[in-house]
This record gives sequence, C-alpha cells and structure tokens, in this order.
Amino acid sequence: MKYNRILLKLSGEALMGKQQYGIDADRLMQYAQEVRAVAELGVQVAVVIGGGNIFRGVQAEAFGLDRVQGDYMGMLATVINSMALQSALEKLGTPTRLLSGLTIQRVCEPYIRRRAMRHLEKGRVVIFGAGIGSPYFTTDSAASLRAIEVEAAVVLKGTRVDGIYTADPEKDPSATRFPQITFDEVMEKNLNVMDMTAFTLCKENNLPIIVFDMNKKDNLLKLVNGEQIGTLVTMTGDAEHDVAAKPGTLLPEQKRASTASAEQQA
Ligand code: UDP
Repeated sequence: MKYNRILLKLSGEALMGKQQYGIDADRLMQYAQEVRAVAELGVQVAVVIGGGNIFRGVQAEAFGLDRVQGDYMGMLATVINSMALQSALEKLGTPTRLLSGLTIQRVCEPYIRRRAMRHLEKGRVVIFGAGIGSPYFTTDSAASLRAIEVEAAVVLKGTRVDGIYTADPEKDPSATRFPQITFDEVMEKNLNVMDMTAFTLCKENNLPIIVFDMNKKDNLLKLVNGEQIGTLVTMTGDAEHDVAAKPGTLLPEQKRASTASAEQQA
C-alpha cells in the first residue's frame, strides 16, 4: 500500500444517493464497506463527512435566519451523518471513534489531537464531526485542517466526478480530466476543487489532494494501493516526490517492513 494514514472527505450530499434529502441506507453501507476494506489493509483512516444532505449555513440566510446559527445547524448535521457512518462501520465490525469539534459528550468525544492520533495508531477509524467547530467554515476546511494536524499523507476527496476537469463535465462534453495538476495551476485556471480556505491550507502545508469518484466500487482501495485514478494535486506536479515527502506516506523500506510484518502476522 502507498499510504499509512489518509484523510477521506465525503460530502453530505453524496449520502443522499437518489433521494432528495437525508441519508440513503445503501449508499451509507457502500461507503462503510469501502472504508472497512482500506482499514483492514492496515491503512489508518480519518474521515470528515459534510452535512449538505441535511442543512447548510447559507440556507439559513435564504430563510432570513441568522447565518451563524445556520452554520451551527450545519455542523450538527455533520454530526448526524458521522454517527450514521460510525454505526454502519461498527455493524461491519470496524472499530471507530467519533471526535467532534463541538462538545456533545453523550454521543462523541471532544476533538483532541493527541487522542485522535492515538486512535489512528490503534487502527480505529476516526471520524471528525462538526467540522472545525466554528461558523463560516466548511467541512472541506475541516478536512484540510485535521489532515494536517494528524499528519495524514493525503486528503482524498471523494466526489461523484472522477477528478478535476478543464470544465464541468456534466455541462461540457468536451471537458477533459487532468490526471495530475499543481496547486498553482488550479488557482490560475480557477478550477473548483475545494473552497479557497481549504485549498490554501493544503497548498501552504504541501498536503496533496486527490479528487476521485467515491461511488465507483473499490476506487478507495485502488488509491491506497497506489493506482492512479482521479486527479492528484501537488506542489510541483512531480507526484512521486511530493507525496513521498509526506509523513503519512510509507517510504520504500517501510513498505517492505510493513509487508514483512503483515506476512508474519498472517
Ligand atoms: N460548517 C461550519 N463550520 C465548519 C464545518 C461546517 O459552519 O467547520 C457548516 C456550514 O454551514 C456548512 C455546513 O456546516 O454549510 C455543512 O457542511 P458542508 O457544507 O461543508 O457539507 P458538504 O457540502 O460537504 O455536504
């Protein structure tokens, strides 16, 4: 495997499946199975899931309500989704912990970085709920920030499109996909990968992003095994160099050691 620690970002909207609102049970189980498969390989997995299938802060403004209140409602929506994913994973026998950016102590632990790192080391899937716990941010920002904090090798942004395109492929059939691209090119070309705050955090901290189609079976597994799918965003465009420099990436000699120890355990 290529990475030993990843942060997977899932949008809340993707959880709706074909529904107009809320959580689609089949989609939820499908995501849980994908996550379980990589966790069983020994990859340390952190997950941030959005809340757009339930509520977004901007909706509150549209109703004439207070934006900040709306953002907290959005954060609570992400906790609902996180609890659903936690439950689905545990149904499959995968140990998890839910750490929240807002204190909701009956249902989740508060976010404490060292605790998150410890859970990851112990092989528990760590789900970060409630974003970063502050209004005017998004779960993309939470994904970038938490990935940097827990020293993940890469942010894997699971979407319904299989990468970053020259134009919106759902509107422009002539659009082509970039297999890889630099942070600067994304900005120059004004491509929509993440919101600017989240994207800048990744750029400034040299944290690679891979945008990929999460709805295609085994894509997550393929990615952690080093297959080139989706679009990889890095600092220099030299993927091997940029990704290998990250702490959560296994160096060739570590890869050999981890394979040897897995074989011993088997
Ligand atoms: N949110 C927030 N701070 C955060 C994370 C989320 O205020 O750190 C709120 C914000 O209102 C956002 C909503 O929670 O619209 C749901 O998250 P997001 O829109 O990122 O979900 P997604 O689009 O990924 O489903």
